[in-house]
Amino acid sequence: MASWRDNIRQVEPYVPGEQPKNTNVIKLNTNENPYGPSPRVKAVQDNEDLLRLYPDPTAGALVDALAEYHGVDASQVFVGVGSDDVLAMSFLTFFNSDKPILFPDITYSFYDVWAELFRIPYKQMPLDENFRLKIDDYKGENGGIVFPNPNAPTGIYESLDHVEEIIKNNPDVIVIVDEAYIDFGGETALPLIDKYDNLVVVRTFSKSRSMAGLRIGYAISNPELIKALNDVKYSYNSYTMNRPSLVLGVESIHDDAYFREKVGQIIATRERFVKEIAELGFTCLPSSANFVFATHESIPAKEIFAAAKENNIYVRYFDKPRIDNYLRISIGTDAEMDVFVSFLSKYVKEYK
Ligand SMILES: *Cc1c(COP(=O)(O)O)cnc(C)c1O
Repeated sequence: MASWRDNIRQVEPYVPGEQPKNTNVIKLNTNENPYGPSPRVKAVQDNEDLLRLYPDPTAGALVDALAEYHGVDASQVFVGVGSDDVLAMSFLTFFNSDKPILFPDITYSFYDVWAELFRIPYKQMPLDENFRLKIDDYKGENGGIVFPNPNAPTGIYESLDHVEEIIKNNPDVIVIVDEAYIDFGGETALPLIDKYDNLVVVRTFSKSRSMAGLRIGYAISNPELIKALNDVKYSYNSYTMNRPSLVLGVESIHDDAYFREKVGQIIATRERFVKEIAELGFTCLPSSANFVFATHESIPAKEIFAAAKENNIYVRYFDKPRIDNYLRISIGTDAEMDVFVSFLSKYVKEYK
């Protein structure tokens, strides 16, 4: 074997949820938003400049819109190509200690992939038997901390007091709170930015703003940490965000009424769905997200997953320790959830 193989970076990549080619499916497997973005986003005309010119490398218009929306200074906002890009940049920028970074054992499954890719030592801290963070696990020596709140794929939200305790107990490392789902429940950690200089809050347009296809994510922190992120970004690729995303992202921010209405609708559908499947023998972890994590009292999750797929209903199943009897079900429209509930009802009744 030629020895150049020894110099190839070996990584086991993150496996995203399936994007089926068949459009005739009910797609509840990747936490997309069923309603589509604001009409203002769709009304933007494609013109020559939108596609012909390089984008503004500082993403100024979007940074300004986000700063105004969140009541922070533009120097406190970093934008990237989805929060995956923002998180990857953050790992690269902030996690350079010899001590392991910490994150939960059951969490967003990209964290360990980035840690492996960037050769960052890491330790996965087991959630307790109710899938809650054990705050004391995050008080020892470490090289940094990252966790989603609400967590994925459990949907469980940890109170701001708990989040603050983690930040407060780790003044010498950066704590990243991944708020991909915060719009669907819970209190944001953003106000803590003024109180602690080691906090980075990461958000995305993919879920609550229904713009997963445009790839927009951002971080909010203090100017020093945001500058550090930008220095890394400009050392790698100046034009990370494309021009249409910058323009359409601003339009989304400027339509708060639509945003709130659709988020409210998804929450209402979630609550109704949880009650309906409870009657079929399912238990859901308490969800503050646009998905639920559900398990059935007698039927293995893996079988339900396969049967649903046969019927063109896609949900997510993780064949991993502790969660291999759960399904992660994204909340779709009421009509989509009705179809799923009637499928489940029939399936559970006829199951042998
Ligand atoms: C979906 C998700 C992301 C990534 O979202 P992008 O589409 O890359 O913005 C990051 N963190 C968590 C916890 C997620 O669920």
